Amino acid sequence: MAPKKVIGRFAPSPTGPLHFGSLIAALGSYLDARSRGGQWLVRMEDIDPPREQPGAGDEILKTLEAFGLEWDGPVIYQSQRLGIYHDAVTDLLKNKLAYYCTCSRRDIAKLADGKSGARYPGTCRGHNRPRENASVRILTNNNGISLLDRLQGEFHWDLECEFGDFVIKRKDQLFAYHLAVVIDDAEQGVTDIIRGVDLLNSTPHHLYLQQVLDLATPSYLHLPMAIDKTGAKLSKQSHAKPVTINNVIPELQAALTFLNQALPPEHAHCNKYELLVWAIKHWDPENIPVTTKIVVN
Ligand code: GLU
Ligand code: ZN
Repeated sequence: MAPKKVIGRFAPSPTGPLHFGSLIAALGSYLDARSRGGQWLVRMEDIDPPREQPGAGDEILKTLEAFGLEWDGPVIYQSQRLGIYHDAVTDLLKNKLAYYCTCSRRDIAKLADGKSGARYPGTCRGHNRPRENASVRILTNNNGISLLDRLQGEFHWDLECEFGDFVIKRKDQLFAYHLAVVIDDAEQGVTDIIRGVDLLNSTPHHLYLQQVLDLATPSYLHLPMAIDKTGAKLSKQSHAKPVTINNVIPELQAALTFLNQALPPEHAHCNKYELLVWAIKHWDPENIPVTTKIVVN
């Protein structure tokens, strides 16, 4: 049997310009896919308008282009796929694998005892709540969920006792990231997910949804997170400086150094295409530091 074709992806949310943390996720997933002769897709995760910034999606794409990170095929926009998420939620409800929940944030906070802050205690389970103003939660169970991450190693979770039944459609009727991401990764045939370690605690939700929806599970590699000297994550939320397209070569070099795949000094004068060709050829995930946080200044 021919080995499975590698399909990687970068899936930004257009909540602001590309910052160094997301450049690392983009570059890491790009180099891993390209070094294995695979495809690299870009998917815009624009299903949370209240958090989005007008124009940020286009700006992210322009930045990727300026960095020479060329993707295959058209960019998929999650905002164009709401019908698909709707059908999945409808099926789960019909099959009694999900239910309406009318608890308020305050109700849940009062009972908070979970890992991610508020573990949902299952108040609305089996109660047939009205669908108006309700969120939809998926039923979890205490069958363990395991992950063998390509970099971070082995993890085990008990979804029900660590997180509880989680939201797949919000009270404001927006679909949850967890739901959309697994449906789209499966539909796009993504085989290898490389993203920041800040999403590691989302992975048990994704593995579980893949089981329930009968979707293939890709392999995962969670990259260390870039933090500043104060320990804060370099992200759009922390208003970290965006990467600038006037500074492509130094930014790419810094990202390669972060991933411990630094360009040797004799290649310092490469243009961005030569630099990427070198990086694809020499990409070695074994060299990525096995840690969750790296301070960058
Ligand atoms: N859209 C998510 C984010 O920007 C990342 C999704 C993923 O890589 O799974 O945080
Ligand atoms: Zn509830």
